[in-house]
Amino acid sequence: MTTVVLFRDDLRVEDHPALHEAASHGEPVVCLYVLDEESEGVRPLGGAAKWWLHHSLTSLAADLSDLGVPLTLRRGPAGDVVPDVVRETGAERLLWNRRYGGPERAVDAGLKEWAGDNGVAAHSYAGSIMFEPWTVTTQNGDPYRVFTPFWRACTSGPPPREPYPAPSSVLPADPAPASDALADWGLLPTHPDWSGGLARTWTVGERAAHERLDEFLDERLPRYAEDRDLPAKPATSRLSPHLRWGEISPYTVWHTALHRAENPGKFLTELGWREFSTYNLYIHPDMATRNINPKFDAFPWPPLDEDVLAAWHKGRTGIPLVDAGMHELWETGTMQNRVRMVTASLLSKNLLIDWRLGEQWFWDTLVDADPGSNPHNWQWVAGCGTDAAPYFRIFNAETQQKKFDPDFEYVDRWNGRQEGVEPIVDLKESRAHALELFMSL
Ligand code: FAD
Repeated sequence: MTTVVLFRDDLRVEDHPALHEAASHGEPVVCLYVLDEESEGVRPLGGAAKWWLHHSLTSLAADLSDLGVPLTLRRGPAGDVVPDVVRETGAERLLWNRRYGGPERAVDAGLKEWAGDNGVAAHSYAGSIMFEPWTVTTQNGDPYRVFTPFWRACTSGPPPREPYPAPSSVLPADPAPASDALADWGLLPTHPDWSGGLARTWTVGERAAHERLDEFLDERLPRYAEDRDLPAKPATSRLSPHLRWGEISPYTVWHTALHRAENPGKFLTELGWREFSTYNLYIHPDMATRNINPKFDAFPWPPLDEDVLAAWHKGRTGIPLVDAGMHELWETGTMQNRVRMVTASLLSKNLLIDWRLGEQWFWDTLVDADPGSNPHNWQWVAGCGTDAAPYFRIFNAETQQKKFDPDFEYVDRWNGRQEGVEPIVDLKESRAHALELFMSL
């Protein structure tokens, strides 16, 4: 009996429940990745994400090939393409790890229905998050709105399951279904190719993800809680793109950290924020475009000044920590967490530019651009999300820089002090003005 395994945001062979199940029978398996840019509501990937995806698929194909099976690539709406491949290969089983975004769930529900109507057994598994949204509710059955009780509820139940090992081999279907050539998908930028900095910064793929985790646990975890807010230090795990693309599973990160580290609590809590972001994506599927708190729909955003937005994009606001962060993002496809908060706060509160425009820029430029974490964090900073920073908490970029980068080490590394670029906004005055507007809500 042939099984089709779908790969989506889980580009790995270890702790891949669907692959594990398929391979355990010793019968033929088709490993399929569908580039779906057409199903209704699916958010088109940003440029940096496409770059990562290209390299991650290359790496996954090599790892699967080592196990004995090719990676089949197809493009188009998954609701059409997957049934095509099932029919072509005469498969009788279809397996995948679950997704939690609205449009993706609709696609998967459609596939399950199609399978049921056509005598194909379809099964799905939990692989990308540890605590599935419908399992974490208040005593009344409502969703949690605040992180701390959410995380307490998650961590007071049974621990996440142990990760599954990678299969030792996978039997391929014979003949193998036809595959697109990855290069034909045009995921890499060409004219111009702006990806040099990304390539210098990252090694993509499952092996690199494991190496990064090992290195972090050995070298940086002991000082993680103290140093994680200092942008000049290599203090954090830098696992976010690997987790975003599923090159390593949160179950693996969780258990490895617990086995190997003395006190990983603070680090595990950050994984909790990832869980909470996906939880909220499940509850608020339109979180990237709609305020979670509907009160904010009445916020009087002033007319957009395109020049001001462009200055923020390019890191020419004249505010050193912000400009450094925006340069780091452009060059490397990432930005340290505290600097993300400061740049987002400057845009949405001091410059009074709708947070959605900032979210979209991050979506296009981050290699870890995540449909849950990106809008969830933007809404948190802007004050309109769940568990939001109170509206009066407006990060002062100058104070933050003095506190977290007192020697300008990060600022100067990313050229945040530029001659002739004056501050675009007075931080104190704009803060007072934003507060007035927030209070009017
Ligand atoms: P570590 O400190 O080592 O944390 C371990 C892991 O926990 C991370 O890899 C990540 O998966 C998760 N994590 C940590 N903090 C958060 C958080 N606040 N929310 C959700 N998950 C978290 N993270 C993304 O993965 N994708 C995004 O698109 C994204 N957009 C953001 C936008 C804004 C405005 C802000 C303020 C934060 C955003 N974050 C996003 C969260 C956070 O900045 C990154 O996850 C973190 O900087 C990644 O670095 P790290 O892997 O070294 O993190």
